[in-house]
Amino acid sequence: MTTHLDTTVAADATVSADALGVPAAQRRSAVLEESVRANPGRFRVLTGDRPTGRLHLGHYFGTVHNRVRLQELGVEMMVLIADYQVLTDRDVADRLTEHVADLVLDYLAVGIDPDRSTIFTHSAVPALNQLLVPFLSLISVAELNRNPTVKEEISQSRQASVSGLMFTYPVHQAADILFCKANLVPVGQDQLPHLEVTRMVARRFNRRYGRLFPEPEALLSTAPLLLGTDGTKMSKSRGNAIALAASADETARLIRGAKTDAGRHITYDPDTRPEVSSLVLLAALCLDRDPHLVAQDIGGRGAAALKGLVTEAVNEYLAPVRRRRAELAEDRGHIRRILRDGNERANAIAEATLRQVRTAMNTESSHSQ
Ligand code: ATP
Ligand code: MG
Repeated sequence: MTTHLDTTVAADATVSADALGVPAAQRRSAVLEESVRANPGRFRVLTGDRPTGRLHLGHYFGTVHNRVRLQELGVEMMVLIADYQVLTDRDVADRLTEHVADLVLDYLAVGIDPDRSTIFTHSAVPALNQLLVPFLSLISVAELNRNPTVKEEISQSRQASVSGLMFTYPVHQAADILFCKANLVPVGQDQLPHLEVTRMVARRFNRRYGRLFPEPEALLSTAPLLLGTDGTKMSKSRGNAIALAASADETARLIRGAKTDAGRHITYDPDTRPEVSSLVLLAALCLDRDPHLVAQDIGGRGAAALKGLVTEAVNEYLAPVRRRRAELAEDRGHIRRILRDGNERANAIAEATLRQVRTAMNTESSHSQ
């Protein structure tokens, strides 16, 4: 790879949870959960996904399930389809229209309700990119260079060199989050360093130009990093994911092919047995059980029995989602309407914030001539 960036931390796998600050973020998430329950009206959520493929179980248990839960608790939610950001790690955004429609269908199928939550696409909200410019001035190249998730994403990138878009990805996210003054962001653990950049941007903007933005906090789920069938982070781009919309047979085939280890006795020990433990966790999440007990039940029956249980649990859990998704897929006009309304609303919010930013930065006079 021809890059001037120091990618040594990226190595081969995901950066350690400790290095990302996961334990502290988990403790904070527990406190945030309490506050949300006590006062859902105090929070505005922004979350999003890149339209690079269909949502998978990593998304679901990492963040999407939390989004639906927050929506049900009465929290206002904005869901961003980060279409421009597809280009961070590839030259062309392939089959974009199809991937955007797939994401909307996945959202609706899991229970995101467009009457209560705003679903919108990044490219339809130009003010987001205007916010990016002042935000870029608030972060140093050295700070961007240190971001472990950027390093990880660079190591996984399909491109021969690192684009400015990839390098500045966390700052784009700052604009995506702060434009609507979101203060809560349900994410997987890989997003923690990015959120730190958003918090830094908000803090520095407020200090330099007067207080305008909240410092948004991450909400982690109980599965902040679900592994895929090859034992690395489940990811759309790595071909190791079980899509929510996969058929029952496809799910069975993927789980049958999942990597395990030589130990016959099944245990739950994510540190020493990541592959086996990730399968145990998947079953536990779908069955809403303690993973240690799931492992204990399988015990000496080995990996084949474990895979059988996981397949059954996943397929049963996802059956209603898949049914709903198939029904919703019949009406493409509905998807277009949802995005049109969502984009309109997101634009209104973004324009209002941009006006405030211009006033705060004293640049509005250049617009009134
Ligand atoms: P890509 O490979 O195209 O980057 P992705 O599968 O990594 O796709 P993103 O769109 O980058 O998905 O991530 C969307 C959200 O889902 C983020 O909050 C991210 O933290 C979360 N997420 C993605 N994969 C996982 C996973 N395996 N476990 C937990 N959370 C995840
Ligand atoms: Mg990603």
